[in-house]
Amino acid sequence: MQPLHLLGLSRAELTEFVESLDEPAYRARQIFAGLQQRRLHSFAEMTDLPKELRAKLSEHSEVSTLTLESRYLSTDGTRRYLFRTHDKMPVETVFIPEERRDTICFSSQSGCPLQCTFCLTAQLGLLRNLTAGEIVEQIIIALNDAYGVSVKPPRGTNLVGMGAGEPFLNFEALLKAIRVMKEPSGLHIVPNRVTISTAGIVPRIRELATIPDRPHLAVSLAAPTDELRNELMPINRKWPLRELLSACKEFEKSLKPNERFTFEYVMLAGVNDSDEQARQLANLLNRHELRAKVNLIPHNPAEPLPYHPSPVERVELFREILESKGVHAFVRKPRGRDILAACGQLAARSTPHLVAIT
Ligand code: SAH
Repeated sequence: MQPLHLLGLSRAELTEFVESLDEPAYRARQIFAGLQQRRLHSFAEMTDLPKELRAKLSEHSEVSTLTLESRYLSTDGTRRYLFRTHDKMPVETVFIPEERRDTICFSSQSGCPLQCTFCLTAQLGLLRNLTAGEIVEQIIIALNDAYGVSVKPPRGTNLVGMGAGEPFLNFEALLKAIRVMKEPSGLHIVPNRVTISTAGIVPRIRELATIPDRPHLAVSLAAPTDELRNELMPINRKWPLRELLSACKEFEKSLKPNERFTFEYVMLAGVNDSDEQARQLANLLNRHELRAKVNLIPHNPAEPLPYHPSPVERVELFREILESKGVHAFVRKPRGRDILAACGQLAARSTPHLVAIT
Protein backbone atom coordinates (compact mmCIF):
# COMPACT_ATOMS: atom_id res chain seq x y z
CA MET A 1 0.00 0.00 0.00
CA GLN A 2 1.11 3.56 -0.75
CA PRO A 3 2.00 5.61 2.33
CA LEU A 4 -0.43 8.42 3.13
CA HIS A 5 0.24 11.48 0.97
CA LEU A 6 0.10 14.40 3.39
CA LEU A 7 -0.34 17.05 0.69
CA GLY A 8 -3.87 15.78 0.11
CA LEU A 9 -4.95 16.35 3.73
CA SER A 10 -6.79 19.34 5.13
CA ARG A 11 -5.61 20.88 8.42
CA ALA A 12 -8.29 18.94 10.28
CA GLU A 13 -7.34 15.61 8.69
CA LEU A 14 -3.68 16.21 9.31
CA THR A 15 -4.49 16.84 12.96
CA GLU A 16 -6.32 13.50 13.14
CA PHE A 17 -3.38 11.76 11.54
CA VAL A 18 -0.89 13.35 13.94
CA GLU A 19 -3.05 12.38 16.90
CA SER A 20 -3.24 8.82 15.61
CA LEU A 21 0.56 8.79 16.00
CA ASP A 22 0.14 9.86 19.65
CA GLU A 23 1.55 13.27 18.97
CA PRO A 24 0.08 16.56 20.17
CA ALA A 25 -2.19 18.49 17.81
CA TYR A 26 0.11 21.52 17.57
CA ARG A 27 2.51 19.37 15.55
CA ALA A 28 -0.12 19.25 12.82
CA ARG A 29 -0.04 23.03 12.63
CA GLN A 30 3.74 22.96 12.18
CA ILE A 31 3.61 20.23 9.56
CA PHE A 32 0.81 21.90 7.64
CA ALA A 33 2.72 25.18 7.56
CA GLY A 34 5.90 23.36 6.51
CA LEU A 35 4.14 21.67 3.61
CA GLN A 36 1.59 24.14 2.39
CA GLN A 37 3.01 27.52 3.37
CA ARG A 38 6.77 26.99 3.24
CA ARG A 39 6.30 24.40 0.49
CA LEU A 40 9.04 22.10 1.81
CA HIS A 41 9.60 18.90 -0.14
CA SER A 42 10.78 16.58 2.64
CA PHE A 43 10.46 15.86 6.34
CA ALA A 44 14.24 16.40 6.62
CA GLU A 45 13.73 20.10 5.85
CA MET A 46 11.24 20.48 8.70
CA THR A 47 13.92 21.27 11.22
CA ASP A 48 11.40 22.67 13.69
CA LEU A 49 10.28 19.08 14.33
CA PRO A 50 12.23 16.66 16.55
CA LYS A 51 14.26 14.10 14.62
CA GLU A 52 12.32 11.18 16.08
CA LEU A 53 9.06 12.68 14.94
CA ARG A 54 10.41 13.18 11.43
CA ALA A 55 11.49 9.53 11.38
CA LYS A 56 8.07 8.43 12.61
CA LEU A 57 6.32 10.55 10.00
CA SER A 58 8.35 9.12 7.15
CA GLU A 59 7.53 5.62 8.30
CA HIS A 60 3.81 6.25 7.90
CA SER A 61 3.48 8.96 5.29
CA GLU A 62 5.08 10.92 2.47
CA VAL A 63 5.14 14.48 1.22
CA SER A 64 6.68 14.20 -2.22
CA THR A 65 5.56 11.62 -4.75
CA LEU A 66 6.03 13.18 -8.19
CA THR A 67 9.36 12.80 -9.94
CA LEU A 68 10.35 15.42 -12.47
CA GLU A 69 11.09 13.75 -15.79
CA SER A 70 11.57 16.86 -17.90
CA ARG A 71 10.97 20.56 -17.88
CA TYR A 72 10.65 22.87 -20.85
CA LEU A 73 10.86 26.64 -21.16
CA SER A 74 8.94 28.42 -23.92
CA THR A 75 10.14 31.59 -25.63
CA ASP A 76 7.11 33.28 -24.04
CA GLY A 77 8.19 32.31 -20.52
CA THR A 78 5.70 29.44 -20.12
CA ARG A 79 7.09 26.35 -18.44
CA ARG A 80 5.92 22.80 -18.93
CA TYR A 81 6.66 20.04 -16.43
CA LEU A 82 6.40 16.37 -17.15
CA PHE A 83 6.29 14.32 -13.96
CA ARG A 84 5.92 10.65 -13.18
CA THR A 85 3.83 9.39 -10.30
CA HIS A 86 5.12 6.66 -7.98
CA ASP A 87 3.59 4.12 -10.39
CA LYS A 88 5.21 5.79 -13.43
CA MET A 89 2.11 7.52 -14.78
CA PRO A 90 2.72 10.78 -16.66
CA VAL A 91 1.44 14.04 -15.17
CA GLU A 92 1.83 17.41 -16.85
CA THR A 93 1.62 20.90 -15.39
CA VAL A 94 2.05 24.26 -17.08
CA PHE A 95 3.18 27.50 -15.44
CA ILE A 96 2.13 30.63 -17.33
CA PRO A 97 3.60 33.93 -16.12
CA GLU A 98 1.51 37.01 -16.84
CA GLU A 99 2.05 40.64 -16.01
CA ARG A 100 -0.13 40.83 -12.96
CA ARG A 101 -0.57 37.23 -11.97
CA ASP A 102 0.64 33.74 -12.73
CA THR A 103 -1.57 30.97 -13.94
CA ILE A 104 -0.87 27.34 -13.18
CA CYS A 105 -2.65 24.83 -15.38
CA PHE A 106 -2.86 21.49 -13.57
CA SER A 107 -3.91 18.01 -14.60
CA SER A 108 -6.67 16.08 -12.90
CA GLN A 109 -6.05 12.72 -14.54
CA SER A 110 -3.10 10.93 -16.08
CA GLY A 111 -4.27 10.68 -19.70
CA CYS A 112 -7.97 11.17 -20.41
CA PRO A 113 -10.88 8.83 -21.20
CA LEU A 114 -12.74 11.31 -23.42
CA GLN A 115 -11.98 11.06 -27.08
CA CYS A 116 -12.14 14.60 -28.35
CA THR A 117 -10.72 14.32 -31.84
CA PHE A 118 -8.81 17.63 -31.72
CA CYS A 119 -6.95 16.94 -28.46
CA LEU A 120 -3.68 15.10 -28.17
CA THR A 121 -4.24 13.98 -24.58
CA ALA A 122 -7.06 11.75 -25.86
CA GLN A 123 -4.47 9.56 -27.52
CA LEU A 124 -3.15 8.43 -24.16
CA GLY A 125 -6.52 7.08 -23.02
CA LEU A 126 -7.23 7.15 -19.31
CA LEU A 127 -4.26 5.94 -17.32
CA ARG A 128 -5.69 6.79 -13.90
CA ASN A 129 -7.27 9.45 -11.73
CA LEU A 130 -4.83 11.61 -9.78
CA THR A 131 -5.17 11.86 -6.02
CA ALA A 132 -5.83 15.15 -4.22
CA GLY A 133 -2.22 15.04 -3.00
CA GLU A 134 -0.91 14.66 -6.56
CA ILE A 135 -2.99 17.64 -7.66
CA VAL A 136 -1.75 19.88 -4.82
CA GLU A 137 1.83 18.72 -5.37
CA GLN A 138 1.79 19.97 -8.98
CA ILE A 139 1.05 23.49 -7.79
CA ILE A 140 3.67 23.39 -5.03
CA ILE A 141 6.43 22.23 -7.37
CA ALA A 142 5.54 24.80 -10.03
CA LEU A 143 5.60 27.65 -7.47
CA ASN A 144 8.90 26.46 -6.01
CA ASP A 145 10.47 26.18 -9.43
CA ALA A 146 9.34 29.68 -10.39
CA TYR A 147 10.22 31.47 -7.14
CA GLY A 148 12.27 29.18 -4.93
CA VAL A 149 11.23 27.05 -1.98
CA SER A 150 9.47 29.06 0.73
CA VAL A 151 9.50 32.29 -1.28
CA LYS A 152 6.16 34.05 -1.29
CA PRO A 153 4.95 34.42 -4.89
CA PRO A 154 5.25 38.11 -5.84
CA ARG A 155 2.03 38.02 -7.87
CA GLY A 156 -1.30 36.35 -7.32
CA THR A 157 -1.74 32.77 -8.45
CA ASN A 158 -4.67 31.65 -10.57
CA LEU A 159 -5.32 27.99 -11.15
CA VAL A 160 -6.98 26.41 -14.14
CA GLY A 161 -8.05 22.78 -14.26
CA MET A 162 -7.39 22.57 -17.97
CA GLY A 163 -4.43 20.22 -18.15
CA ALA A 164 -4.71 16.54 -18.97
CA GLY A 165 -7.91 14.76 -18.02
CA GLU A 166 -11.55 15.52 -17.39
CA PRO A 167 -11.71 17.12 -13.93
CA PHE A 168 -15.37 16.23 -13.44
CA LEU A 169 -14.60 12.54 -13.82
CA ASN A 170 -12.32 12.89 -10.79
CA PHE A 171 -14.68 15.14 -8.88
CA GLU A 172 -14.00 14.10 -5.31
CA ALA A 173 -10.21 14.39 -5.48
CA LEU A 174 -10.56 17.66 -7.36
CA LEU A 175 -12.82 19.24 -4.75
CA LYS A 176 -10.62 17.90 -2.01
CA ALA A 177 -7.52 19.51 -3.54
CA ILE A 178 -9.39 22.81 -3.93
CA ARG A 179 -10.42 22.70 -0.28
CA VAL A 180 -6.87 21.99 0.87
CA MET A 181 -5.40 24.79 -1.23
CA LYS A 182 -7.75 27.45 0.09
CA GLU A 183 -6.56 27.15 3.71
CA PRO A 184 -5.27 30.56 4.88
CA SER A 185 -2.44 28.90 6.82
CA GLY A 186 -1.31 27.06 3.68
CA LEU A 187 -1.21 27.92 -0.02
CA HIS A 188 -4.21 30.19 0.45
CA ILE A 189 -5.39 30.00 -3.16
CA VAL A 190 -9.12 30.62 -2.80
CA PRO A 191 -11.70 28.90 -5.05
CA ASN A 192 -12.49 32.30 -6.55
CA ARG A 193 -9.01 32.09 -8.15
CA VAL A 194 -9.68 28.65 -9.63
CA THR A 195 -11.41 27.79 -12.91
CA ILE A 196 -12.35 24.26 -13.81
CA SER A 197 -12.96 23.30 -17.41
CA THR A 198 -15.25 20.45 -18.36
CA ALA A 199 -16.11 18.75 -21.62
CA GLY A 200 -19.68 18.61 -20.32
CA ILE A 201 -20.27 16.10 -17.53
CA VAL A 202 -23.81 17.29 -16.89
CA PRO A 203 -24.55 15.86 -13.42
CA ARG A 204 -21.34 17.37 -12.04
CA ILE A 205 -22.16 20.80 -13.47
CA ARG A 206 -25.41 20.66 -11.54
CA GLU A 207 -23.62 19.45 -8.43
CA LEU A 208 -20.96 22.14 -8.58
CA ALA A 209 -23.71 24.76 -8.63
CA THR A 210 -24.81 23.64 -5.15
CA ILE A 211 -21.37 24.01 -3.54
CA PRO A 212 -21.13 27.27 -1.56
CA ASP A 213 -17.43 28.11 -1.95
CA ARG A 214 -16.94 26.79 -5.44
CA PRO A 215 -14.47 27.44 -8.26
CA HIS A 216 -15.48 29.08 -11.55
CA LEU A 217 -16.68 26.98 -14.43
CA ALA A 218 -15.66 26.78 -18.08
CA VAL A 219 -17.42 24.49 -20.54
CA SER A 220 -15.80 23.27 -23.75
CA LEU A 221 -18.24 23.50 -26.64
CA ALA A 222 -16.25 23.20 -29.89
CA ALA A 223 -19.41 22.97 -32.01
CA PRO A 224 -22.79 24.72 -32.31
CA THR A 225 -24.79 21.62 -33.34
CA ASP A 226 -25.18 18.11 -31.96
CA GLU A 227 -24.26 16.65 -35.30
CA LEU A 228 -20.81 18.22 -35.33
CA ARG A 229 -20.28 18.00 -31.58
CA ASN A 230 -21.03 14.25 -31.61
CA GLU A 231 -18.20 13.91 -34.03
CA LEU A 232 -15.65 16.18 -32.33
CA MET A 233 -16.52 15.41 -28.71
CA PRO A 234 -18.10 11.95 -28.38
CA ILE A 235 -19.21 12.77 -24.81
CA ASN A 236 -21.96 14.77 -26.56
CA ARG A 237 -23.71 11.52 -27.43
CA LYS A 238 -24.24 10.95 -23.73
CA TRP A 239 -25.12 14.55 -22.84
CA PRO A 240 -26.25 16.44 -25.93
CA LEU A 241 -26.26 20.22 -26.21
CA ARG A 242 -29.83 20.64 -24.98
CA GLU A 243 -29.02 18.86 -21.70
CA LEU A 244 -25.63 20.52 -21.40
CA LEU A 245 -27.04 24.00 -21.84
CA SER A 246 -29.93 23.42 -19.51
CA ALA A 247 -27.41 22.36 -16.82
CA CYS A 248 -25.47 25.54 -17.60
CA LYS A 249 -28.67 27.53 -17.21
CA GLU A 250 -29.14 25.90 -13.82
CA PHE A 251 -25.53 26.70 -12.93
CA GLU A 252 -26.13 30.30 -13.90
CA LYS A 253 -28.41 30.68 -10.91
CA SER A 254 -25.40 30.15 -8.65
CA LEU A 255 -23.35 32.96 -10.25
CA LYS A 256 -22.39 35.94 -8.15
CA PRO A 257 -23.43 39.37 -9.47
CA ASN A 258 -20.25 40.01 -11.47
CA GLU A 259 -19.41 36.42 -12.22
CA ARG A 260 -19.77 34.85 -15.65
CA PHE A 261 -18.94 31.47 -16.82
CA THR A 262 -17.07 30.72 -19.95
CA PHE A 263 -17.61 28.62 -23.00
CA GLU A 264 -14.47 27.53 -24.76
CA TYR A 265 -14.57 27.08 -28.48
CA VAL A 266 -11.52 25.65 -30.20
CA MET A 267 -11.26 27.04 -33.74
CA LEU A 268 -10.61 24.36 -36.35
CA ALA A 269 -10.07 25.60 -39.92
CA GLY A 270 -12.90 24.60 -42.23
CA VAL A 271 -14.58 22.49 -39.54
CA ASN A 272 -16.33 24.77 -37.03
CA ASP A 273 -15.31 28.30 -37.99
CA SER A 274 -17.78 29.48 -40.69
CA ASP A 275 -20.01 32.56 -40.50
CA GLU A 276 -23.02 30.26 -40.42
CA GLN A 277 -21.59 28.37 -37.44
CA ALA A 278 -20.91 31.64 -35.62
CA ARG A 279 -24.58 32.55 -36.08
CA GLN A 280 -25.68 29.09 -34.95
CA LEU A 281 -23.52 29.39 -31.85
CA ALA A 282 -24.87 32.83 -30.99
CA ASN A 283 -28.46 31.67 -31.53
CA LEU A 284 -27.89 28.60 -29.40
CA LEU A 285 -26.58 30.64 -26.45
CA ASN A 286 -29.21 33.34 -26.89
CA ARG A 287 -31.99 30.77 -27.03
CA HIS A 288 -30.92 29.58 -23.58
CA GLU A 289 -30.46 33.17 -22.43
CA LEU A 290 -27.06 32.39 -20.99
CA ARG A 291 -24.98 35.09 -19.30
CA ALA A 292 -21.80 33.48 -20.52
CA LYS A 293 -18.84 34.64 -22.52
CA VAL A 294 -17.10 32.71 -25.24
CA ASN A 295 -13.35 32.23 -25.41
CA LEU A 296 -12.20 31.37 -28.90
CA ILE A 297 -9.08 29.20 -28.73
CA PRO A 298 -7.09 28.97 -31.94
CA HIS A 299 -6.37 25.28 -32.46
CA ASN A 300 -2.91 24.33 -31.29
CA PRO A 301 -1.11 22.13 -33.74
CA ALA A 302 -1.11 18.61 -32.44
CA GLU A 303 0.54 16.14 -34.78
CA PRO A 304 -0.77 13.70 -36.01
CA LEU A 305 -4.27 15.16 -35.62
CA PRO A 306 -5.90 16.16 -38.91
CA TYR A 307 -6.72 19.79 -38.00
CA HIS A 308 -5.35 23.24 -38.68
CA PRO A 309 -5.85 26.45 -36.77
CA SER A 310 -8.35 28.87 -38.30
CA PRO A 311 -6.62 31.89 -39.88
CA VAL A 312 -6.44 34.97 -37.64
CA GLU A 313 -8.93 36.92 -39.81
CA ARG A 314 -11.43 34.05 -39.68
CA VAL A 315 -11.26 33.96 -35.89
CA GLU A 316 -11.77 37.72 -35.78
CA LEU A 317 -14.78 37.57 -38.11
CA PHE A 318 -16.28 34.74 -36.07
CA ARG A 319 -15.82 36.84 -32.96
CA GLU A 320 -17.46 39.86 -34.58
CA ILE A 321 -20.51 37.84 -35.59
CA LEU A 322 -20.92 36.60 -32.02
CA GLU A 323 -20.59 40.13 -30.68
CA SER A 324 -23.05 41.50 -33.23
CA LYS A 325 -25.60 39.07 -31.80
CA GLY A 326 -24.90 40.15 -28.25
CA VAL A 327 -22.56 37.31 -27.23
CA HIS A 328 -19.33 38.47 -25.60
CA ALA A 329 -16.41 36.75 -27.22
CA PHE A 330 -12.66 36.92 -26.73
CA VAL A 331 -9.76 35.43 -28.61
CA ARG A 332 -7.33 33.55 -26.41
CA LYS A 333 -3.64 33.98 -27.02
CA PRO A 334 -1.99 30.57 -27.09
CA ARG A 335 0.90 30.16 -24.66
CA GLY A 336 3.75 27.70 -24.75
CA ARG A 337 2.97 26.22 -28.18
CA ASP A 338 6.66 25.75 -29.00
CA ILE A 339 7.12 23.38 -26.04
CA LEU A 340 3.82 21.52 -26.50
CA ALA A 341 2.38 23.19 -23.43
CA ALA A 342 -0.70 24.78 -24.99
CA CYS A 343 -4.31 23.55 -24.74
CA GLY A 344 -4.71 20.11 -26.22
CA GLN A 345 -0.99 19.48 -26.59
CA LEU A 346 -0.33 17.62 -23.35
CA ALA A 347 0.52 14.09 -24.32
CA ALA A 348 3.44 13.30 -22.08
CA ARG A 349 5.91 14.02 -24.86
CA SER A 350 9.52 14.44 -23.98
CA THR A 351 10.94 14.60 -27.44
CA PRO A 352 14.59 15.46 -28.06
CA HIS A 353 13.86 18.46 -30.34
CA LEU A 354 12.44 20.33 -27.36
CA VAL A 355 14.91 22.23 -25.29
CA ALA A 356 14.73 21.08 -21.72
CA ILE A 357 15.87 23.33 -18.89
CA THR A 358 18.46 21.72 -16.73
N1 SAH B 1 -11.31 17.95 -20.24
C1 SAH B 1 -11.50 19.33 -19.96
C2 SAH B 1 -10.23 20.10 -19.64
C3 SAH B 1 -9.02 19.94 -20.56
S1 SAH B 1 -9.01 20.65 -22.15
C4 SAH B 1 -12.28 20.00 -21.06
O1 SAH B 1 -12.51 19.37 -22.09
O2 SAH B 1 -12.70 21.13 -20.91
C5 SAH B 1 -8.87 22.37 -21.99
C6 SAH B 1 -9.35 23.12 -23.25
O3 SAH B 1 -8.47 22.91 -24.35
C7 SAH B 1 -10.72 22.65 -23.73
O4 SAH B 1 -11.56 23.74 -23.93
C8 SAH B 1 -10.42 21.97 -25.07
O5 SAH B 1 -11.52 22.07 -25.92
C9 SAH B 1 -9.23 22.73 -25.55
N2 SAH B 1 -8.41 22.02 -26.52
C10 SAH B 1 -8.20 20.70 -26.63
N3 SAH B 1 -7.37 20.43 -27.64
C11 SAH B 1 -7.02 21.60 -28.17
C12 SAH B 1 -6.15 21.99 -29.23
N4 SAH B 1 -5.45 21.08 -29.89
N5 SAH B 1 -6.03 23.29 -29.48
C13 SAH B 1 -6.69 24.23 -28.77
N6 SAH B 1 -7.50 23.93 -27.75
C14 SAH B 1 -7.67 22.63 -27.46
